[in-house]
Amino acid sequence: IKDPLLGIYNRKHFFDIIEEKVKKNPDKSFAMVMVDIDYFKNFNDSYGHQFGDKVLIETAGVLSENIGNKDEIARYGGEEIVICLDDVENHNKVFDTVNEMRYKLSNNSVNYGGIEKKVTASFGISYYPENGNTVQKVLSVADAMLYEAKNSGRNKVISSI
Ligand code: GH3
Ligand code: MG
Ligand code: MG
Repeated sequence: IKDPLLGIYNRKHFFDIIEEKVKKNPDKSFAMVMVDIDYFKNFNDSYGHQFGDKVLIETAGVLSENIGNKDEIARYGGEEIVICLDDVENHNKVFDTVNEMRYKLSNNSVNYGGIEKKVTASFGISYYPENGNTVQKVLSVADAMLYEAKNSGRNKVISSI
């Protein structure tokens, strides 16, 4: 159920939860947020994988601390984290919430083995049901938004709406 390194849900469990949510209440909207750490490979290559692990742990920590108790967070893949935000009555408010996460991350210094570095991440936001009627479809739009955030300079939030 949980990722052993980060202590948050793994992708399989996250999918199970969100799919159940859609089945139970198909009319309830939610936001999907895809997060990918910027230039993460450089941290591994320059300071070692243990430093990289610490970056991942702290990133998951900052994101977890800034979501509500009805939201869900999981490790999607290597250095990608996915978040489902439950309260989406106002798209601007969702954007501000995610942008605040981005800002907090960018201000956090990761310390390990005498090295101190700042880390940033890029974010893509999509919405159910506006961007698709399945979890997969909504996720793929969040992924496309993340790709745009990467291509427009990183350390950014891009929303589909
Ligand atoms: P971008 O800004 O475009 O996202 O660049 P990036 O370097 O973050 O992207 P890339 O996909 O090239 O690098 C991802 C790296 O994440 C490669 C892989 O070795 C590393 N990685 C994946 N899982 C783990 C992990 O659990 N621990 C550590 N230390 N590294 C991991
Ligand atoms: Mg990646
Ligand atoms: Mg990355």
